[in-house]
Amino acid sequence: MGDAHPTYLWWNGKQTRWEDATVHVTDLGWSTVGAVFEGIRAYWDDGAEELYIFRLREHLDRLHQSTKLVRLPLAYSTDELTRATLNLLRANGTREDTYIRPMAYTANTSGKRFAQVGQDSDLLINTNPMPSHLLTGHAQHAKVSSWTRISDNVMPPRAKNFSNYRNGQLASMEARTDGYDVAFLLNPAGKVSEAPGACVAMVRDGRLITPDVGSGILESITRDALITLVREVLGVEVVERPIDRTELYLADEVFTCGTAAEITPILSVDRYDVGDGQIGPLTRELERRFHDVLRGREERYAHWRTPVGVGALATA
Ligand SMILES: *Cc1c(COP(=O)(O)O)cnc(C)c1O
Repeated sequence: MGDAHPTYLWWNGKQTRWEDATVHVTDLGWSTVGAVFEGIRAYWDDGAEELYIFRLREHLDRLHQSTKLVRLPLAYSTDELTRATLNLLRANGTREDTYIRPMAYTANTSGKRFAQVGQDSDLLINTNPMPSHLLTGHAQHAKVSSWTRISDNVMPPRAKNFSNYRNGQLASMEARTDGYDVAFLLNPAGKVSEAPGACVAMVRDGRLITPDVGSGILESITRDALITLVREVLGVEVVERPIDRTELYLADEVFTCGTAAEITPILSVDRYDVGDGQIGPLTRELERRFHDVLRGREERYAHWRTPVGVGALATA
């Protein structure tokens, strides 16, 4: 990503030049503790000369759910944020795979450590280039973390609330320090929950199995899409239930999924090879099918894509 930044951000209702979107240093501190965000991907299709946003409405609806959970008023509707996002990408002339991150936060938190109820939120939409790694052979080795996944009575796992991510950061740092690529977190019941910022799924005995929404996962939109594709396109049974860590050691295939992770094959867990230690056949086929859906080459799921109209004239 480096220095790449867009010409414009969308900030509190206006397209704002990157250089002009600054806050005072004293605003740092508690402002992001209660902040929530979304992570959305847009995929460029060379053939159609078009940029497609994946499940934009679902992501913006979830932003509203996250703000509700953290009691942060959000002044913009899903329709308004849809228009803002499309206009922003048009204004920036975006013609590559891109990550879109709306973020709602409380400005002016100085001296208001607790009970920040009823304060207005600020809203920023930022974008940055993020190439897809689908079908590139990208894969990871996982370690079951010694950190436990946050639970529903500690921090709301369903919200994309910045504070939650300290949990995943600690697990990631541990995994990397110990020579692995990615952490898997268990929930307080000792069952598999998810990876930091990505859900987990495995293939055993010809079925796809993934932790249920009561396992302390974030209710992932990618997970939902892949469950649909596995059932409807691959014709494979999907089971949502608690998973033991040793099931991962015995699984034929394991992958993580999420907007950033897309589908990331997992080749080993705690140095137990997953299957034969290669990317498995269902994972590979699912990557192919998902890729086609994302880039607009599969009409059946066209309702999941919002074409940006990159050639269209941008309005504020
Ligand atoms: C965003 C996120 C995911 C993946 O959700 P998607 O909707 O597929 O992007 C999984 N876990 C956590 C903690 C997340 O923040």
